[in-house]
Amino acid sequence: MNYRIALDGPSGAGKSTIAKRLSAELGFVYVDTGAMYRTVGLYCLQNNVDIEDEAAVAAVLGNISIELKYIDGEQRILLNGTDVSKEIRMNEVSMAASKTSAYKAVRAFLLDAQRNVAKTQSVIMDGRDIGTVVLPDAEIKIFIVGDATVRAKRRHKELLEKGQNISLQEVLEDIITRDHNDTNRAEAPLRQAKDAVLLDTTYKNFDEAYEAVLEIVKSKME
Ligand code: C5P
Repeated sequence: MNYRIALDGPSGAGKSTIAKRLSAELGFVYVDTGAMYRTVGLYCLQNNVDIEDEAAVAAVLGNISIELKYIDGEQRILLNGTDVSKEIRMNEVSMAASKTSAYKAVRAFLLDAQRNVAKTQSVIMDGRDIGTVVLPDAEIKIFIVGDATVRAKRRHKELLEKGQNISLQEVLEDIITRDHNDTNRAEAPLRQAKDAVLLDTTYKNFDEAYEAVLEIVKSKME
């Protein structure tokens, strides 16, 4: 049988690092839906589309083709044939994704693609609305949360490692803004699904958080 694992929660809670290791351990395909939203944001920035203008963003979706590829177990994302896996991690792209992901047309544009990957294979999908909207029938749902300052510190470390020059304060402010946008939007807001298990990673290092997720997954798969 195919399993669908939905990992949702705010940014910096550890979802993607956990999902990557879990996909390697279980042999499931990892789908990073945030990367898809980031790619739409990147397209708008690259093509001077006003991200505050919902109609303008909706109008260019037809020009965007997004492909997920798996090279040596790593997810790569292609925007109109070009690998943009690195560019989408820039902080300004996070903010553009946070803005444009609130638009109905953008969510509808990505929804089918996300559901299609899960039709034929076992997946671990991370995002904000996987357990509530994308895969409401997922066999396993986990909602990962954490204190905003702790999440900002983790994200800051990641960005520094990627060579981006940004202060912790700036990262924290961006995280708070994105949490607010994601939680308060009308379309598919960030919510814990009723049947999701809640996991708080504030006081957990990566290994501990991973073990906790693995424990939940194993108990549900038995
Ligand atoms: O997870 P990540 O931080 O890469 O996501 C970037 C942005 O994409 C989020 O701030 C959120 O606004 C949006 N997103 C979303 N729904 C998802 C995944 C991401 O709205 N399923």
